[in-house]
Amino acid sequence: MNHIIENIQSIRLRIKAAAEKANRDPASIKLLLATKTVLPENIKTALLTGETLIGENKVQELKEKFEALKDIPHEKHFIGHLQTNKIKDILKYNVSCIQSIDRLELAEKLQQRLQFEKKKIDVLVQVNTSAEASKFGVAPAATMALTKAIAAFDNISIKGLMTIGLFSAETQKVRQCFQLLKHIQQQIIAENIPGVKMQELSMGMSGDMATAIEEGATIIRVGTAIFGQRIYTDSYYWNEQS
Ligand SMILES: *Cc1c(COP(=O)(O)O)cnc(C)c1O
Repeated sequence: MNHIIENIQSIRLRIKAAAEKANRDPASIKLLLATKTVLPENIKTALLTGETLIGENKVQELKEKFEALKDIPHEKHFIGHLQTNKIKDILKYNVSCIQSIDRLELAEKLQQRLQFEKKKIDVLVQVNTSAEASKFGVAPAATMALTKAIAAFDNISIKGLMTIGLFSAETQKVRQCFQLLKHIQQQIIAENIPGVKMQELSMGMSGDMATAIEEGATIIRVGTAIFGQRIYTDSYYWNEQS
């Protein structure tokens, strides 16, 4: 017995409360269901409540769930670490946005493949705001340069930034990660880089979504609080070795 429907209702209420506290419109915050390790039938249950956006971390899982979900209208983002040798595969599964672009080489290879396939894609630049070596993402100080370089690629549209906040019970330290992402966003907006949109800030997960909303998140990515505990630790998804 799972509680997906009740959990989504409660997350929606938490989004509303956090938005109101920050004087924001709840409708300006998109809920992305982080569906790594979640079985297609459970994802279906969630989508049938009216949710529309999911995020996967592994190309293999995109592939495995593609058939089972293809008749239910929804949008898919990629939120995991992306290896260059998986670019060709990821483009097969109708991913509308890759949130984890964190290095020029990856963007270059993506551009080449998109050009070849005559496709376009949205991306977010993933920033390592917590300075933890275990997390992916471009260094804050290198984000501007990376964004400018990617802006030159015609088939890739930059829509904003993504980060994974520090895992810490100290809310103030977590908040600083989100404030840093917002600060970088403002700096990039001020540069007026042609072709670069910066409207999206993807930040906040089960444990820190309210803080992220207070600091300006437009996309929160929630897994555990909806689908329950995962059997794998997140390092399985976030480390290069996996
Ligand atoms: C798993 C994951 C999430 C969701 O994390 P929860 O703590 O389960 O809500 C969000 N973002 C990324 C990149 C993830 O890998």
